[in-house]
Amino acid sequence: MQKKNKPDNQKIIILTNRCNQDCVFCSGTERRVTVKAEIKKEILTARRAVIFEGGEPTLSVNLINLIKFAKNNNVPEIILVTNGVMLSSKNLTEKLIDSGVTLFNISFHSHLLSLYNKITKSNYYHLATRGIKNLINCGASKKTRLTFVVSKINYKTMPAYIRWVIKNFPDIFYIALNYIKVLGVVKKNPYKYVPRFSAVKPYLLRSLEIARKNKVKVLVDGFPLCLMKEYPKYRYREDTYEFMVSGNLSFAQEKVRVQKCKTCSLNSVCNGIRDDYFKLYKNKELRPQ
Ligand code: SF4
Repeated sequence: MQKKNKPDNQKIIILTNRCNQDCVFCSGTERRVTVKAEIKKEILTARRAVIFEGGEPTLSVNLINLIKFAKNNNVPEIILVTNGVMLSSKNLTEKLIDSGVTLFNISFHSHLLSLYNKITKSNYYHLATRGIKNLINCGASKKTRLTFVVSKINYKTMPAYIRWVIKNFPDIFYIALNYIKVLGVVKKNPYKYVPRFSAVKPYLLRSLEIARKNKVKVLVDGFPLCLMKEYPKYRYREDTYEFMVSGNLSFAQEKVRVQKCKTCSLNSVCNGIRDDYFKLYKNKELRPQ
């Protein structure tokens, strides 16, 4: 198996382990909070992007000042990964936009109230959706990405989720459909949360078709290109940044090219599959082209 290296031109800053939600598939439970003395050094060596994460980074009192620090030091991309609950405060949303966030990556895993609350083990559906609305109303729709982690719990609702986003937030920058990782809580019971590619495939392809018809951009990460073969139009589109983005080091982390990939004509534009998926289900489903 061949692994790719992590890109060093983006720096991930973990501001806190605290969170106001408790997602059933949280991948962040084992992450080390970035030592305070290291944060500014990390920001100053970021050539492309600084990504503020947690826990929930909006719970950190240092967040705004650090975003300003990154902006003042000309970091091209300043990304905030958040569940959006604290953005229900319009005042905070405006401050974050003004301080220099270039992309709000909102973890929003279901458009259905009961499923959202079940996944996040919270009652904050209305706060999170208000947070997204605040971003739109404050003029940041083109800085807003909604992230849907594809898991056994929600993958069948994916096409309806895409329709819901199109109806409610048609101008957002894009939707990211990220295959679930075997990290954090999921490690304890991976088969409970990680679906097979073959089970997800029809729902994913239907979702992409809905998005394509409605001209909404979708980025898919962690799903192999060879399973998209009936839909060649979804394959590698780095030119327009639409639908599938692959063959890009930013998306190569934690991926492996397994034996089958060696003879595949797509391997110059595909990063292979997640190594944790391979450990669970091996590579029988792959169909090299
Ligand atoms: S066989 Fe491997 S390289 Fe080819 S598309 Fe599938 S995952 Fe990618």
